[in-house]
Amino acid sequence: MPCPPERVIFLDRDGVINRKRKDHVRSWGQLEFLPRSLDALRALRDLDECVVVVTNQSVVGRGLITAAELVAIHERMLEVVTRHGGHIERIYVCPHARGHGCVCRKPAAGLLLRAARELCVDLEQSVLVGDSLTDVQAAQAAGCRPIVVGERPVVGVDLHVASVADLREAVALIASDRRRVPAGC
Ligand SMILES: [Mg+2]
Ligand SMILES: [Zn+2]
Repeated sequence: MPCPPERVIFLDRDGVINRKRKDHVRSWGQLEFLPRSLDALRALRDLDECVVVVTNQSVVGRGLITAAELVAIHERMLEVVTRHGGHIERIYVCPHARGHGCVCRKPAAGLLLRAARELCVDLEQSVLVGDSLTDVQAAQAAGCRPIVVGERPVVGVDLHVASVADLREAVALIASDRRRVPAGC
């Protein structure tokens, strides 16, 4: 029997959950949670939203870390999120290098479409919170609503795309929209 599609809050990882590094997160010690991102994840859980991470990690495709090392970093990340009362349902990774021609590296919609198939996601009701133009493009390609986070405006993003300072503010926006449009209407 087909499952009823449900909405998901997709989150980019670097620059949304943890601080982005120019030299990329290559070890657990380099993963620094952004202020309030753990609070935001707990708030999403309190709202009963399903959270799925979609992240480009060309560090794997370029041989800077192994796929197993990335899995280990993510396991520890999930542990910390859980300890703080949050929950991440799944992490989808594009491990490919730029120019590899894969269909999953954002701005392509591959990770979102795969999640939609595997988790039965209603993409049109879903949101993607990211800090890059490529996140917005991936969201739009998949038919999700983008929300941009960051202190500075992201070059190239349409003015009608919601833009807030950080994940906590994005969650506040999601919560206030839910109040305006009750589920099921
Ligand atoms: Mg990012
Ligand atoms: Zn890929």
